[in-house]
Amino acid sequence: MVNAVEAALRERIAAEGPIGLDVFMEAANNAYYATGDVIGAAGDFITAPEISQCFGELIGLWAAITWQSLGAPASFNLVELGPGRGTLMADALRAAVLMPGFGAAAGLHLVERSPGLRHRQRRTLTGRDIRWHDSLASVPAGPAIFLANEFLDALPIRQWEFTGRWNERRVAEDGDAFRIVLVPTDRAIPASAAAGAIYEDSPAVDGVVKDIAARLQRDGGAALLIDYGYAAGHGDAVQAVRRHATADALKAPGTRDLTAHVNFAAVAATAGRAGARVFGPLEQGTWLRRLGIEVRAEKLARGKPEATRDTILTGVRRLTDARAMGSLFKVMALAHPSLTALEGFDP
Ligand code: SAH
Repeated sequence: MVNAVEAALRERIAAEGPIGLDVFMEAANNAYYATGDVIGAAGDFITAPEISQCFGELIGLWAAITWQSLGAPASFNLVELGPGRGTLMADALRAAVLMPGFGAAAGLHLVERSPGLRHRQRRTLTGRDIRWHDSLASVPAGPAIFLANEFLDALPIRQWEFTGRWNERRVAEDGDAFRIVLVPTDRAIPASAAAGAIYEDSPAVDGVVKDIAARLQRDGGAALLIDYGYAAGHGDAVQAVRRHATADALKAPGTRDLTAHVNFAAVAATAGRAGARVFGPLEQGTWLRRLGIEVRAEKLARGKPEATRDTILTGVRRLTDARAMGSLFKVMALAHPSLTALEGFDP
């Protein structure tokens, strides 16, 4: 059966010809996230805050220390982009409010488009005064700390392939599925032209990063961006996940999570051009260890029943171990240029 988003995409391709991968990805993910039941053991994929509460708690401590480095402003915006089930924010606040003054100063803003996930976040964060936004555009001005875990990877990307000339990899219909077709382009692609080379870029990621950096430059603050991605290089990095397994990215749009590895070199370049100081990227394992995740986990596990201890320590190992999420995931921070040091990063 063809779902509504698939029908709309087919109609569009029939009218206009092959569409950009970004157009396909955006429509598919909007429909996909809308339901809100996608993250967690019962959904399609699991994320760091759903694996261990230590993750959000350390991010909360990081935010509290960063707030102090900003001179502990009496009011500032704590903004999370793509907050999922609200778990990271709940864990972060529990830890950050231990810093006197932080809780009263923080205005909470969640950038989330999915009605289903907003509902879920409202439940997780019951009792907190929160404002929701479709995009950063409506988040008020002022000093801010931005948090984003696995947000940038969900934003649509474009792909370019070299075959003696550069082409855009676009999406066409292919019977009951879709397929990639090459459409020649005259666009200047900033990658070495070797046969078969694939280059990815993302106007959506660029736009968000530029916006964050401009706000940091204007009002002060810092941003913490955590995602799986690469520090440099290119290749086809789009993937689909459904029920915790890899799936075909070009089938049944809206029924699976489409993501792309984040190009952190591009993020750093965009942020730097917009006037932000860039820290990292560091491997997630390195950053979490520097913040003391192992000590925190030991403390949390102490005196607990064997099975609970196991869950806590295994969860943290999953986040830090290079064979699990420790290396693939990277942590990058952006800040107002006056901030010369941020917890966990090299100055
Ligand atoms: N940070 C969470 C969820 C990651 S999943 C966690 O770590 O568990 C991606 C999140 O980004 C979801 O909340 C999804 O609804 C949101 N999202 C994806 N694209 C978005 C967009 N264009 N605008 C706003 N939110 C978006």
